[in-house]
Amino acid sequence: MKRIAVLGGGPAGAFAAERLARAGFDTRVFDEKLAWEKPCGGGLTYKAYQQYPFLIENDVPKKIVTGTRLAAPQSGTVKLELDRPLVIYSRYELNGMLLERAGRAGAQLEKTRVLAITRAGEGWQLQTRDGSLKADYCIVATGARNPLRNAGTQWTAADTMSALGYYVESRQDHIDIQFLPNLEGYIWVFPRCGHLSVGICGKGEPAQALRARLERYMDEKDIHWRGANFYSHMLPALESQGWKTNRVAGDGWLAVGDAAGLVDPITGEGLYYALRSADLASQIVVDDAQPTLEKAQAYRSLLRRDFAADLEFSATLAKRVFLDRFLFSAIPTRMVEFVRRSPRFREVVQDLFAGTQPYIGLKRRLFSNLAGTLYEVLKDLLRERAGFPADLAEL
Ligand SMILES: Cc1cc2nc3c(=O)[nH]c(=O)nc-3n(C[C@H](O)[C@H](O)[C@H](O)COP(=O)(O)OP(=O)(O)OC[C@H]3O[C@@H](n4cnc5c(N)ncnc54)[C@H](O)[C@@H]3O)c2cc1C
Repeated sequence: MKRIAVLGGGPAGAFAAERLARAGFDTRVFDEKLAWEKPCGGGLTYKAYQQYPFLIENDVPKKIVTGTRLAAPQSGTVKLELDRPLVIYSRYELNGMLLERAGRAGAQLEKTRVLAITRAGEGWQLQTRDGSLKADYCIVATGARNPLRNAGTQWTAADTMSALGYYVESRQDHIDIQFLPNLEGYIWVFPRCGHLSVGICGKGEPAQALRARLERYMDEKDIHWRGANFYSHMLPALESQGWKTNRVAGDGWLAVGDAAGLVDPITGEGLYYALRSADLASQIVVDDAQPTLEKAQAYRSLLRRDFAADLEFSATLAKRVFLDRFLFSAIPTRMVEFVRRSPRFREVVQDLFAGTQPYIGLKRRLFSNLAGTLYEVLKDLLRERAGFPADLAEL
């Protein structure tokens, strides 16, 4: 039986370990913290729990949220009811559940730091804080701050964004998303069990400036953040070039989740991609027909077919979505207005929240809907501004 070393026990590592242990491999997970409150919103889209129903069908505390408020400069706030809810966990709970599943499947969990991995013949020699051991194959799941030099993605500063926030002792039932002037990013308020996760992510702006924007927002909204726990982390947000050279696999190893840069560069969603890549990587490892030397290439192709091509495409849109203008206003401002006035446009945004509208094909859908959307917007404007009754505006 082959021994697989899973380096990192976050969502990606824990899920890969579960799959590999279930397939009968001697699977060891090494994580310096095991379950912990990793800085994260903890939001899972419909796409994630549709694919992996255990993410919603369980007794672990979580919030199931449909109410959303979107806001952008000069557009006010609009309510959007999600037809497929977002599921929000504390990361401690989510990670605990995934590690527990891995353990139940037969994986061994070890709380230690991996210091280095070295190729030794056909396999690997691992150096951990508590000793060394051999493994036949490595799954690299050490997250965005992967310390290993010889495995996992390698990015430049331009391929990352900052994400930071506060856990606030307060309650609300809806999600808030606030777009900001001249920022490739946004603020979120996520209700969790017993507290809120209020955060900001942004690219191309120093963390201090993002923090100042977030604190200003919280003051304006009367969210009491002074004394609350602060969190901050880095998120992969690969540029187009970064996707082209992304190091997701090599001889004897496959990288999953953040350690492979697999995060949506527009929304910062990474949990689904962590789980999905873990699933795909384990399929490749388990496949006996696949010679070890060809596993890296097979994994690259599988990732690309499954979701990486869509994420690569989204990197070409990211700046435009936040910073470009449409009909003389910033795109987020127009987006909020269109959500308010056009049922047709609302459906597109609901699909984006659910994760069922790929970026490839989004432009085509928006353009083919454009006349209808503009008609609905105009009709609503007429009704509102000129006080036309609904049936007259219909004409
Ligand atoms: C502020 C913030 C908010 C976010 N909000 C969301 C959200 O709402 N929804 C969403 O989908 N995504 C969100 N993300 C992204 C999401 O958190 C990540 O994509 C996800 O955690 C990736 O999982 P992972 O298992 O690849 O990495 P991680 O969760 O980072 O896990 C890596 C693990 O490896 C361990 N490790 C690292 N180095 C070593 C070592 N040398 N030895 C042993 N162990 C090691 C760490 O202890 C950690 O447990 C957010 C990210 C941030 C920063």
